[in-house]
Amino acid sequence: QAPVVTIDGPGGAGKGTISGLMADRLRWHLLDSGALYRLTAQAALKHQVALDDEASLAKIAQTLDVAFPVENGQPRTLLEGDDVSRAIRTEQAGERASQVAALPSVRQALLQRQRDFCQAPGLIADGRDMGTVVFPSATLKIFLTASASERARRRHQQLQEAGVDASLSSLLKEIQARDARDTQREVAPLKPADDAITLDTTCLSIPEVVDRLTELLAQ
Ligand code: C5P
Repeated sequence: QAPVVTIDGPGGAGKGTISGLMADRLRWHLLDSGALYRLTAQAALKHQVALDDEASLAKIAQTLDVAFPVENGQPRTLLEGDDVSRAIRTEQAGERASQVAALPSVRQALLQRQRDFCQAPGLIADGRDMGTVVFPSATLKIFLTASASERARRRHQQLQEAGVDASLSSLLKEIQARDARDTQREVAPLKPADDAITLDTTCLSIPEVVDRLTELLAQ
């Protein structure tokens, strides 16, 4: 069994950036599990399936035709051959992902697909339930958090850099709504695994977090 480091936490805590940097540094595989929920919601939109039609959504999740090629050093996300890299990253796509992620049979349908990412030499698994459900016997479990206002500020900055206009107060509201849905849902609610190490990144820089995780992994 290849080693797994799980990195769970709420949206905007820096999981995506940190997971990518850790995978690069260690030359391990990377699982962006949120992308699978985003892609399921995107496929539903494409095939005009309602976001509360659990049976059809589970089928979509089960048969999801996706690929994550890297071209000229740029990672891309393909859904049924179409490039959806940008489309699945909008706030609206995140909101829809969080709706389909609340459905137990969708989560069940994506379980094995996520476990299949665990291959030598190792895996960095980024998500909400990586340490609690998908990889319960992971080598190292991290729960990354940051205050909601800091997460909204980071998201705002990211969007500005991408040339997208957004108001800080509406981003904060969206983050709070998504936190509420993710922590209060019945199946796999967002919470640290009992054996997870919680790291509050509100006052930490990205290199500080990466160094801390590298230290923890070496212990
Ligand atoms: O991490 P990301 O923002 O891409 O995830 C989008 C949504 O997918 C989250 O708000 C959450 O509802 C859901 N998700 C989940 N379990 C995961 C990863 C994401 O429920 N392991």
